[in-house]
Amino acid sequence: MVSDTAEVFSGSFTQQEPIPEEAIDAAVAVMRHGRLHRYNTAPGETAEAALLEQEFAAMVGAHYCLAVASGGYAIATALRAVGVKPGDRVLSNAFTLAPVPGAIAAVGATPVFVDVTQGLVIDLDDLTAKLDQARVLLLSHMRGHICDMDRLMALCDAAGVTVVEDCAHTMGASWNGVPSGRHGAVGCYSCQTYKHVNAGEGGLLVTDDAALAARAIMLSGSYMLYDRHLAGPPPEAFETVKYDTPNISGRMDNLRAAILRPQLKRLEAQIDGWNARYHVVQDGLRDTPGLTLINRPAVERFVGSSFQFLLSGWAPEAITSVLTRCAVRGVELKWFGGAEPVGFTSRYDSWRYAEPSALPASDVVLASIIDMRVPLTFSLDDCALIARIIRAEVSAVFQQG
Ligand SMILES: *Cc1c(COP(=O)(O)O)cnc(C)c1O
Repeated sequence: MVSDTAEVFSGSFTQQEPIPEEAIDAAVAVMRHGRLHRYNTAPGETAEAALLEQEFAAMVGAHYCLAVASGGYAIATALRAVGVKPGDRVLSNAFTLAPVPGAIAAVGATPVFVDVTQGLVIDLDDLTAKLDQARVLLLSHMRGHICDMDRLMALCDAAGVTVVEDCAHTMGASWNGVPSGRHGAVGCYSCQTYKHVNAGEGGLLVTDDAALAARAIMLSGSYMLYDRHLAGPPPEAFETVKYDTPNISGRMDNLRAAILRPQLKRLEAQIDGWNARYHVVQDGLRDTPGLTLINRPAVERFVGSSFQFLLSGWAPEAITSVLTRCAVRGVELKWFGGAEPVGFTSRYDSWRYAEPSALPASDVVLASIIDMRVPLTFSLDDCALIARIIRAEVSAVFQQG
């Protein structure tokens, strides 16, 4: 299938960079003293987890921050902390990944899915039509695409709907100068290997609401040691909360926090690296017949850690052919239109436990979305090569069809 002269890419789409030396040293120091549990501190010592929370809160300009075991745990904790109860309905994106409806299911609630636009963001008209169906919106900035947050917040504020932001793909991003995660009542981030900082697993939650922060800290398993937090609310905030809030253990440990702190410091440089790669891929794919690029608004400061384009109106067999032809040349593309969920890619109608209703407009968009990871281990030349391969194979199949 590949001609002798065709270029082939040999890099790995799942290979991240190594952990920075400074983070390795910090992790080794924690292992040498052995106090990995965040509340296990020597006299006068401040836990790495508490320092991480303080530094992340400062980075995004939040009053309070809590480090937890995973991004999914942060979201479920946020939903509990804003008062979602079993049987409640929670608005959320039709285009997102499984941990998002999973977090809603974890609190016994049911998602009400909202359409996705051709720009890969939540459809604000469909949201408007559904705002009376729930008190909470779990907004997922899926693949780093940020909707018009000013309009979204105006709509939700007017309807009395609380917004919880899933920023698994937008750590370091912003809308109109406001960091992603700082528009809604709570912002949740993931520190899992495939996101913007890598602790293997981990999550962060930020808010300006003292009562909400106190509930989240108790929920995460603080026992009565909440005064050891540097980015937590004052003790008064825990007065009644401490009797009413269950311990749903999901703390972050000092080892992960130690690995993360140096990574926060270099996040800006990492973002520049991702965006340079993103732009090389985008430039390489511009004006490819049959291929639609996603327009990014000027007020969206995104993190190009992944790349999406649309093959709108294509027959499924033609899309499969593009994926196969690219795969043969070493380029791994994911498709959100496949009949069966594969790898990390599943769709709202695969989440049968959530009993999703039909979303024909989203089906059309999902059937056209091609998704690609862009790890920082790729060079700019790699990205240019990947774009040439995609361009060639999309063009070849498009001309046949
Ligand atoms: C990864 C991810 C999460 C959950 O993060 P984990 O740390 O893996 O639990 C939530 N939402 C989206 C969109 C994600 O990609």
